[in-house]
Amino acid sequence: MDVAEIPGIPDWFVEHLHVDGIEALYPPQAEAVEKGVTDGENLVASIPTASGKTLIATLAMLSSVTRETETGGKALYIVPLRALASEKRGEFEQFEQYGLSVGVSTGNYESDGGWLADKDIIVATSEKVDSLVRNDAPWLEDLGCVVSDEVHLVDDGNRGPTLEVTLAKLRSLNPTLQTVALSATIGNPEALAAWLDAELVDSDWRPIELQKGVHFGDAMHLEDGSQERLALRASESQEAAIVRDTLEDEGSTLVFVNSRRNAESAARRLGGTTEPFLSGAERAELAEIAAQIRDVSDTDTSDDLAAAVEKGAAFHHAGLARDHRSLVEDAFRDRLIKVVCATPTLAAGVNTPSRRVVVRDWRRYDGTFGGMQPLSVLEVHQMMGRAGRPGLDPYGEALLLASGHDELDELFERYVWAEPEPVRSKLAAEPALRTHILATVASGFARSREELLTFLEGTLYAEQAADRDQLQAVMDTVIDYLEVNDFLERLDGTLAATSLGHTVSRLYLDPMSAAEILDGLAEYQAGDGDSQPTAFGLYHLISRTPDMYELYLRSGDEEEYTMLAYEREDDLLGRAPSEFDDAFEDWLSAIKTARLLEDWASELDEDTITERYGIGPGDIRGKVDTAQWLLGAAESLATERGLGVSPGIREARLRVEHGVREELVDLAGVRGVGRKRARRLYEAGIETRADLREADKSVVLAALRGREKTAQSILENVGHHEPAMAEVTPAESVTAALDTGDSEEEHSEASSDSGQANLGDF
Ligand code: ADP
Repeated sequence: MDVAEIPGIPDWFVEHLHVDGIEALYPPQAEAVEKGVTDGENLVASIPTASGKTLIATLAMLSSVTRETETGGKALYIVPLRALASEKRGEFEQFEQYGLSVGVSTGNYESDGGWLADKDIIVATSEKVDSLVRNDAPWLEDLGCVVSDEVHLVDDGNRGPTLEVTLAKLRSLNPTLQTVALSATIGNPEALAAWLDAELVDSDWRPIELQKGVHFGDAMHLEDGSQERLALRASESQEAAIVRDTLEDEGSTLVFVNSRRNAESAARRLGGTTEPFLSGAERAELAEIAAQIRDVSDTDTSDDLAAAVEKGAAFHHAGLARDHRSLVEDAFRDRLIKVVCATPTLAAGVNTPSRRVVVRDWRRYDGTFGGMQPLSVLEVHQMMGRAGRPGLDPYGEALLLASGHDELDELFERYVWAEPEPVRSKLAAEPALRTHILATVASGFARSREELLTFLEGTLYAEQAADRDQLQAVMDTVIDYLEVNDFLERLDGTLAATSLGHTVSRLYLDPMSAAEILDGLAEYQAGDGDSQPTAFGLYHLISRTPDMYELYLRSGDEEEYTMLAYEREDDLLGRAPSEFDDAFEDWLSAIKTARLLEDWASELDEDTITERYGIGPGDIRGKVDTAQWLLGAAESLATERGLGVSPGIREARLRVEHGVREELVDLAGVRGVGRKRARRLYEAGIETRADLREADKSVVLAALRGREKTAQSILENVGHHEPAMAEVTPAESVTAALDTGDSEEEHSEASSDSGQANLGDF
């Protein structure tokens, strides 16, 4: 179908597509149009990676925002990861030149996003949309179209239920809402279509041919039955041989591995393979990119990444800062970086096609099984789908690696020839149901047991549940739990949230987290404002709630943290489980997380922390963000219950927010200051905001290492009467006194919007 024939879209968009070189729709896109996607019809599109799903979504959204009838209206695009929100924003912002406005909302859970009311296209994560629904964002009623990207993630145990419930709520709020769900190829797309009352486009079509296969011995065994020689040189690994062979043909390779650590070590090794292929000009450009990478943060990860990039290799995982990730993605797209070693996050949407894909690890560690588990067919096919760049490569190849004949056969059976699994709802998992049933009642969506049941029947879970009785039994168990803990009350056949229940729902807490926090704070009764819990005690309390992802205990940890638990016993809130109790291990792992937070709030270097706990800088950010949110929630709960512990909680929260000791909390809150600069200012005698406002500029400049622009903008932010720095010279006595110590540079590590993934993904 020629793009000029598409009904229901604005004329400028046809022009826009022409400028992008898009003349005709791909077959699955044409099928979507024939099934009414530009006419308000619901649609599920289950098609392979890189087959143009975004354009299907765009057609739906643009037709909705331009349609004059009551089914038209603003469009909401739901993304599964924060990292993808900015990528989509970039794509849709191109439409601002035609008069449309685009907003992105991923942050603060509590606001109703009022400013989004005048946007035509809104991009948000499912968690954010869920909270907008709970906070009754009025503009939700003006929605004409909702797009759910990567909808097969309803199958994800952690985050699937939120997506599922959110879609069900949006649809029940607004029965004329058009729902467009984009999915990878899955085993049961009909089930999704039935759930969403949608037309289905189910296609294997790809814009570029893909050959799947397995490398074994000296050959690639491809799915069409052919074999191609690809021999290993002495002491060369399979992946190195494939990277080299691809480079001999001027192509790039994407290597998927199963952990961050493996991504880093594979990149280090493969740098040896890529380096000899670099031209002088490429080396110079890569050195420049490596310098930009080092500028992002002062960690080992940053150094390791820069060192690999200088050789034409890189790693990519969610422990990286956002700027690291985009530098790598851009340089790979520009063909400067020849190989990227990635964890599976990269497969989930970031657009980095390459000639060949190698799925090196097809098992990964799974904590719930306590061992290695094979990846799903769906995941492996999504990774493989990244092979081949339309218009650039003749075809793509995606290879698994076998080390023996049996494994060769197994990989063909298990992945190359296999169909992807069906998607199943995970809403029945307890934390999910607890949270969502409370929210559904608190926001007035359901006012009785019957209404709740009706609402749940609109979910995929109900579509797939064995029978209605099972659904009811599970629901009743949860209602009982919520009633016993004083979050819900039953009155003459109605269901209502208590005041506490409303607070918990508004705070976006798992009710079990709220119960744990209140239990821990119970010893501080109303009016007793003299004694306050310690920061460590509070960090431990929030770390043992189900809302904080656990840090796993490594071998040797158990002893160390048991000791610490006894040493710090007086700080800990609530009753410790006995050492023989199963809950003791969780208690210890919360001790470990608490000490991490305390280390951060005691100004320990990022590097020291990453080493001490075996995690990446992105993980510190994730823990810190979660802690900030949970401590904010604890403060609200304490206020709700009239407990006099707000000052202690507030201080613990501010310390973790800024990563500083108590005495720097005030200074570090000034925009542009951050933890390291605050410490230097403090040591130069500037101890508070008030001091800074009145400070001698030569002292400020010296404390800030003579950086005039930084000094000036900080003084502007704090409201200094004369912030200009021209002609100010750094006070030498201060410089001399401070520079005997460390020489570390200040970086943006303490900024709260570093955009790093923190949702427990890789
Ligand atoms: P998916 O979301 O399915 O992984 P994308 O929507 O990112 O895939 O599309 C992959 C690439 O294909 C993009 O670069 C896009 O511009 C291009 N593309 C999409 N539709 C067409 C088309 N009809 N003709 C040519 N290129 C297209």
